[in-house]
Amino acid sequence: MAKIFCVANQKGGVGKTTTAVNLAAGLARLDQRVLLVDLDPQGNATMGAGINKATLEKSVYEVLLGMAELAAARVRSESGRFDVLPANRELAGAEVEMVELDNREKRLKDAIASVESDYDFVLIDCPPALSMLTLNGLCAAHGVIIPMQCEYYALEGLSDLVNTIKKVHAKLNPELKIIGLLRVMFDPRMTLSQQVSAQLEQHFGDKVFRTIIPRNVRLAEAPSYGMPGVTFDPASKGAQAYIAFGAEMVDRIKTF
Ligand code: ADP
Ligand code: MG
Repeated sequence: MAKIFCVANQKGGVGKTTTAVNLAAGLARLDQRVLLVDLDPQGNATMGAGINKATLEKSVYEVLLGMAELAAARVRSESGRFDVLPANRELAGAEVEMVELDNREKRLKDAIASVESDYDFVLIDCPPALSMLTLNGLCAAHGVIIPMQCEYYALEGLSDLVNTIKKVHAKLNPELKIIGLLRVMFDPRMTLSQQVSAQLEQHFGDKVFRTIIPRNVRLAEAPSYGMPGVTFDPASKGAQAYIAFGAEMVDRIKTF
């Protein structure tokens, strides 16, 4: 059965989507069967996987509202290596529309259950808010991957996320764990980055992934070509780091 991970952090611009898309591509290179779920109305993961969000026939929106089966809404990424449950602006309406539905926190979980045997990994790219959409991600997942930049303010806000995860664990999803903190956009020349990174290791121990994702312009350029960095320039430092992260995840789930 698939292992399901949410990539979450309520801050915007911290590397969630870059992580979700490149981890999907990295895992696919390791012959893992992957479904990438875009849970952000911005549709960045959809576009980053080479899918035009403007011309979707069906999306995660219809799936959450029970108007389409996940199996009918998923599409193949441009590289052909992994599947995507795409999103676009329509999804913003789901927040409000789901309020009236029963089982509203677990709609994504139920949808994923219908295709779970097709995959080794399901990766969910969450929006930058602790919203009903993120709650659906957290209720569907076995683990949370938290990307963070090693800067002073990174630690602020982390406690809100950790508390939300604890509450979801206690009330809605007893399987949920923080699988790890992923250091992203890392600049080893900055003393502050080194210090925050060391603090994270001290405080969170083996909840900090060994792999560190460097700041690398090829990762930032790749989405404009509709490709994950891992596919766009596999030899780049950023791509290599995400491929290594994929291997670390494959290793982690053995004991997860
Ligand atoms: P989020 O999904 O958390 O909002 P994104 O993944 O969209 O964050 O990243 C925010 C911006 O930072 C994007 O422009 C992205 O291309 C860029 N970015 C993310 N990770 C890296 C990295 N390791 N090196 C360079 N740029 C990065
Ligand atoms: Mg994003």
